Amino acid sequence: MDATAINESGPARSAASITLEDIGKTYPDGTVAVGDFSLEVHAGELTVLIGPSGCGKSTILRMINRLIEPTHGRILIDGQNILERNPVELRRHIGYVIQNVGLFPHQNIRTNVGTVPRLLGWDSKRTNARADELLELVGLDPARYAKRYPHELSGGQRQRVGVARALAADPLVLLMDEPFSAVDPIARGRLQEEFLRLQATVRKTIVLVTHDIDEAVRLGDRIAVLAEGGKLLQYAPPAELLAKPDSTAVSDFVGADRGIRRLAVTPLRQAMIPAAPGAAEAGGPTVDAEGTLYDALAAMLASDATEVVVVEDGKNVGVVTRTSIFEVPEAEAKV
Ligand code: ADP
Repeated sequence: MDATAINESGPARSAASITLEDIGKTYPDGTVAVGDFSLEVHAGELTVLIGPSGCGKSTILRMINRLIEPTHGRILIDGQNILERNPVELRRHIGYVIQNVGLFPHQNIRTNVGTVPRLLGWDSKRTNARADELLELVGLDPARYAKRYPHELSGGQRQRVGVARALAADPLVLLMDEPFSAVDPIARGRLQEEFLRLQATVRKTIVLVTHDIDEAVRLGDRIAVLAEGGKLLQYAPPAELLAKPDSTAVSDFVGADRGIRRLAVTPLRQAMIPAAPGAAEAGGPTVDAEGTLYDALAAMLASDATEVVVVEDGKNVGVVTRTSIFEVPEAEAKV
């Protein structure tokens, strides 16, 4: 990590890779929170750590920003061993979002978002401009919200401010610990959707901890499934994990309805029967070509049809049928 690059605000830059090499944490009372854990987190991807409560997810996450010191192992960010860096200074370059956000109650939203830039010595004009830019990015109009205090926002809005604050100094890495679990399910779905759009813009390297498999499948580019003691059971993109869990422990965890979840991460193009040249317009349901098999099935069920017309750039390019959906071989399911 190059400090100059980190200090620069502005458009998205390259993100960092994270290498966890045989890291572990044993507490003084003998509890082995994490035995021996290795993982390669790809630059610009969102990697999810998932597993039952107490399996060591938060411990692994907090070792990356050194809120917890590993008992052994190495942690490299873009090839540099972060265990050799000053932890306080390191944390200014790693965004961290937690469940109840931890905004400063007596500071307004703009000041909260500018926390890390101020610590990095940015002047107030630049810090405020950056805070407003980030508020805009997370969907909170600065003219309306910048001067408010945290208690004047909803839970979902506070969570967005937490994300804006974590991104303010343009960190190369973002760590998120159950970031959406404190908000109600409807707000959570919306936040997840917005967050995916945000990530498509900023393309950070993100490590996100959750115990919710639906959230993992929805958000993750890759999912690491953990068992007690931080044991890595499987590390794969969502569609592969759902289609080919490589142990019964993983398939049990992923759940019985994984077939449905798999539909939600499989592009519908895989089941599309291309339109014959000059095919007549069908009057039935349509679905966008960028959608998933789940979208196609939902459109059919909503209008009690047996097929749905696939539309791309305003043109009908093919159909997906109830049969073709279920003919996509599991192994082909790719995100
Ligand atoms: P998760 O995030 O997967 O729920 P954690 O990483 O928080 O799990 O905890 C992993 C294990 O480490 C748990 O068994 C927990 O009880 C234990 N643990 C956490 N902090 C301490 C501590 N200070 N002393 C002893 N054991 C701890």
